[in-house]
Amino acid sequence: MTSDADRTPALARLLELQRSDVPVHGGRSLAHIYDSGMPEVTRLGSEAMAAYANSNGLDPAAFPSVVRMENEVVGFAADLLHAPPRAVGTVTSSGNESLLLAVQGARDSRPEVVSPSMVIPETAHSAFHRAAHYFGVRAVVVPVGADFRPDPADVAAAIDATTVLVVTSAPSHAHGVIDPIAEIAAAAHAHRVACHVDAGLGGWVLPYAEASGRDVRPWDFRVKGVTSMSVDTHKYAYTPKGTSVLLHRSSRLRHPQYFAAARWPGTRMLNATTQSTRAGGPVAGAWAIIRMLGHDGYRRLAAEVFEAVDRIVEGIAKVDGLSVVVEPESTLVAVATDGRCDPFTVIDGLTARGWSVQPQMSYGDHPATIHLTVSAATLARVDDFLEALGEATAAALEAGPVVADPAILEILESLDPNELFEVDFDRLLDAAGMVHVPGSGQLLPQRMAPVNALLDASSVEMRDALWVAFLDRLAKPVRGTTASPPQK
Ligand SMILES: *Cc1c(COP(=O)(O)O)cnc(C)c1O
Repeated sequence: MTSDADRTPALARLLELQRSDVPVHGGRSLAHIYDSGMPEVTRLGSEAMAAYANSNGLDPAAFPSVVRMENEVVGFAADLLHAPPRAVGTVTSSGNESLLLAVQGARDSRPEVVSPSMVIPETAHSAFHRAAHYFGVRAVVVPVGADFRPDPADVAAAIDATTVLVVTSAPSHAHGVIDPIAEIAAAAHAHRVACHVDAGLGGWVLPYAEASGRDVRPWDFRVKGVTSMSVDTHKYAYTPKGTSVLLHRSSRLRHPQYFAAARWPGTRMLNATTQSTRAGGPVAGAWAIIRMLGHDGYRRLAAEVFEAVDRIVEGIAKVDGLSVVVEPESTLVAVATDGRCDPFTVIDGLTARGWSVQPQMSYGDHPATIHLTVSAATLARVDDFLEALGEATAAALEAGPVVADPAILEILESLDPNELFEVDFDRLLDAAGMVHVPGSGQLLPQRMAPVNALLDASSVEMRDALWVAFLDRLAKPVRGTTASPPQK
């Protein structure tokens, strides 16, 4: 028999486990999370999630309230992105899912194309490579220039009879700049090809930035030729994790995304996304927060986040050894180091000072960088952050650039990433310092710079193989945690 009292230890253990995570509030995480800095917003999101935790959006007839909330969330997004009156949309579970569906829909709206392809700038989100992998749509990658934007002429030249989709970002996840969307969408339109704008990051802040007088290049449905857009509510709409919105200019464009299955002996199945059972919680969380904040709330939060971005950019200019890679057009700042130090050591210094930020490896001509996603909660912490960044950079200058261990690098270079199953992964990961200390709650060493330097010096194929091996090693069942498994 279990009783209400049995809840307490489970909950206590849950909160104990959570202590090993990066904090999701307090403005010290400039990666992974987006914090409004408003505890009442967080509380409302959690309560709404809990109220709908067991609802199932799979069946609109059984759960009409979930459809109603979804339609209102989509409506708000459509207003924000200036979607035309006939536009429609879907609430998905993530930016990745929105992008996967955008590619799948574009592919299936052109069944006559035997070997479909899509044109993507090299800065397009990794989700497009995943879509290529899942759906067999070849990615034709267009390089970007010194301004981190693709040349529209290169994009236009890459479009051919197999192109089913052209991709743009507002802004790009890696560098925070907006692609020349008007010119690219015009080229797509001229070829009668669909054009998606990935506004995962920008969709909920750029409209308010524009309204406040900031210079924002054309990026939304007002641009002729844009056929679909995505915006991730679990970013700058500050909703609980688990929602993004995918918008289509018309119902006809969304149609191939829908799937009905009468071809089986079971219950009616009608799927709008890759999920079938659809959690009501995230939709309710998003709906409630959007309802609470409205345009006034989001206008204020956008003003806060842009003030934080401006002050961070100004502050970085004063740190010896650092520079902003490109003037940010949204709320994402990529920071480079000069040759006297390296981003990985700076990041370790920030981690040691209680800040959570992420590295970006070098890629092609692009140097390795420090990736900062700024949120409204960062504003109150900007001075602390700049102080920590200054100290971490001074220490990194003192230490000099990290170098990849030549002995391990030699081993890595002698291996074929596709044959890695054959070699002793544990030995390799241990040698590379990617060690998991069981029970410590810590998955990675304190100093990641030597590991990052090795990855940075490796081929992209080797990086992928090592990360997959790392995840495989982490993702192992923990068995026997309850006293007595079922026995006959
Ligand atoms: C975050 C992001 C994504 C992916 O979103 P997830 O919700 O993490 O799946 C895609 N594109 C851009 C531009 C993003 O910022």
